Amino acid sequence: MTALHPQTRVVHPPVIEPVGSRPVGVPIYQGHLFTLDTGGDLAAAFQGPDEAFFYGRMGNPTVRSLERAVTELEGGAGALAASSGMGAISTVLTGLLGAGDHVIAQTALYGGTYALLQDLAGRWGVDVTYIPGDDPAEVAEALRPTTRLLYLETVANPTTHVTDLPAFTAALQGTDVITVVDNTFTPLLCKPIEHGVDIVVHSTTKYLSGHGDVVGGIAVFADPDVRRRVWKHSLDLGTTAAPFAAWLTIRGLATLPLRVARQSASALDIAGRLAAHPSVTRVHYPGLEGHPQHETARRLLPDGAGGVLAFELAGGREAGGAFSESVRLIGLGPSLGAVVSLVLHPASTSHRQMDAASLAAAGIGEGTVRLSIGLEHPDDLWADIEQALAKAT
Ligand SMILES: *Cc1c(COP(=O)(O)O)cnc(C)c1O
Repeated sequence: MTALHPQTRVVHPPVIEPVGSRPVGVPIYQGHLFTLDTGGDLAAAFQGPDEAFFYGRMGNPTVRSLERAVTELEGGAGALAASSGMGAISTVLTGLLGAGDHVIAQTALYGGTYALLQDLAGRWGVDVTYIPGDDPAEVAEALRPTTRLLYLETVANPTTHVTDLPAFTAALQGTDVITVVDNTFTPLLCKPIEHGVDIVVHSTTKYLSGHGDVVGGIAVFADPDVRRRVWKHSLDLGTTAAPFAAWLTIRGLATLPLRVARQSASALDIAGRLAAHPSVTRVHYPGLEGHPQHETARRLLPDGAGGVLAFELAGGREAGGAFSESVRLIGLGPSLGAVVSLVLHPASTSHRQMDAASLAAAGIGEGTVRLSIGLEHPDDLWADIEQALAKAT
């Protein structure tokens, strides 16, 4: 072949694959396109989520590294990473549900998940029954011949309600109802698949990436056939994760065990101090003995109850709002699971459209404040909380 012109050369740069050595960290495969040797190879690559790479929406080596890593953490058969937590949740739900199907879901749900289920009910003809999630008998009572899916959260927001996953999956034994659990609040601390759950979803935006620099999600599957069905649907929706977001999440995973252990220990410490404070009427943290599901938490979350807690201020809505605006070190923001601590007053922010009665129905008081505990020293956090409590009451 004659020498190529510079114009041709620059669009075909040498692609260097390491030979004789290996990278220690996972490389970022930012490109969306891989070429194959034959048409037959390309046809084969279309067949499933673990075939050769060819087009970024169908698979990417960096994204697959993340999927393998989280599959191992959750003890699943495979995973699908998504562009956000809601991307993972919507892909799973719309991939498995059709018109006329029935879903049983816990009442205390992440707001986006609740909105999605309401939308599926209104426009797709999916029937949804909401249950408190306190007693597995609720499932037996709600079960219909058309029930396809049970949707739960290990620890609910912001009430820190803990769902007894093994009891609920046992209630569905002998049926082919698929159980989906949002485990965003308790990665590593709880492995829902060990308790009979079929699909675990995470917002990797939170603890898995952990540094507040990524939006992402992932679904981990116990059954490879269910994963394949959802994978096919994900191609239609285009909810696939981007390589750089996957890479940042992989980097975050390296410190996940250390972060989760420290955040759980600090949250327990702060919860105890709050419980002893005169302006605080109640603390919601599953690690505290007075918590309604403390016994379940000891079984399900033996190594720690996570980094999120909530508490009630005697001064109601006004005090909750004032507290959330008086903290200095702790940031006011609607996220959680980051290295920095965050506060949220649901009644004046995320749930402000709800009146006192509907808040109460969701288990949220007007003075409920949620804290996501980060990696700061607990004494520094407590000093900030104490001065904000003084201002709010
Ligand atoms: C944040 C969150 C989600 C949604 O995740 P995004 O990454 O924001 O789409 C879902 N479930 C829970 C429990 C969450 O905290």
